[in-house]
Amino acid sequence: MIQNPVAWPDGARCAVAITWDMDADSLLHVMHPETSATRVSTISLMQYDPKVAIPRIVDMCKRFDIKNTFFIPAWCIERYPYAIEKLVEGGHEVAHHGYLHENPNQQTPETELYWLQRGIDVIKRYTGKRPSGYRAPWFKFSMHSLDFLLKEGFLYDSSLMGDDIPYLLERRNKTAGDVNQLIELPMHWAMDDYPHYAQNDDLNYMMPIKSPDQAMEVWLAEFEAMWEYQGMWVTIWHPMNSGRLARCVRVAKMIEYMQKKGKVWFATMEEIARHYQKCITEGGYKPRIDTLPYFDGRIPELPGHLTETERLP
Ligand SMILES: [Zn+2]
Repeated sequence: MIQNPVAWPDGARCAVAITWDMDADSLLHVMHPETSATRVSTISLMQYDPKVAIPRIVDMCKRFDIKNTFFIPAWCIERYPYAIEKLVEGGHEVAHHGYLHENPNQQTPETELYWLQRGIDVIKRYTGKRPSGYRAPWFKFSMHSLDFLLKEGFLYDSSLMGDDIPYLLERRNKTAGDVNQLIELPMHWAMDDYPHYAQNDDLNYMMPIKSPDQAMEVWLAEFEAMWEYQGMWVTIWHPMNSGRLARCVRVAKMIEYMQKKGKVWFATMEEIARHYQKCITEGGYKPRIDTLPYFDGRIPELPGHLTETERLP
């Protein structure tokens, strides 16, 4: 059912990347710049990320001998360096996730580039390595993000949802001699833990909370299908959600199950991107390519329809 599957290493049926977006309290300050400091309970909820969940996740990964990928706003790295030290010690991948979880679609192109570059500097300073990957905060990949990621030498993005396996993003207005393609490692809302676990009015996210087994049923259905058809299974989990005790215990059981099932390639996003690149350059694999931007601007409305401004009350 996947038209053009990738041959994963050692005959694996499926690539598994457990990725965590460690936002801590960054987005609270973006959403409520004037009053974030007064929202004490939510701050405590979100600081659970670096203070409690990260050490727990690092220990869990050690137990199963796997490495995960952590997308982290650079401000969180500066603010909670002890959590980053643990990740680096554990050999995990630290990738770019904005500076303060700002929305690229609400920035000018110049500002978007400024914060992207500032985030790269912070990651380099604290991990000793330039980030290879990027996930836009709130998945708000802008019309300019591809240009900026290419300019800064990123290997992959993971903000888009256009396939079950890696694909390439290519600039419509190509420049001769420049790198014009970026690897996309797509994800999907079904693999995010917010819809299953997040209930918080300060974050405008009110979902009925599921049991860990119910949430896992959704994620394992995705896994079984990816295993069957040689796909790629990528989580978008948050330490403050899936790193809470009962949920993390369920995650550990899931890893045990996957390891017992076998033919599963546990990898970081960077490892998957490098493998995919090698399949193209050395293995003759023909990638699927999406050309960006999809559209140049406003799509013409049907005759007689109101414009967006006219529709406003
Ligand atoms: Zn995030």
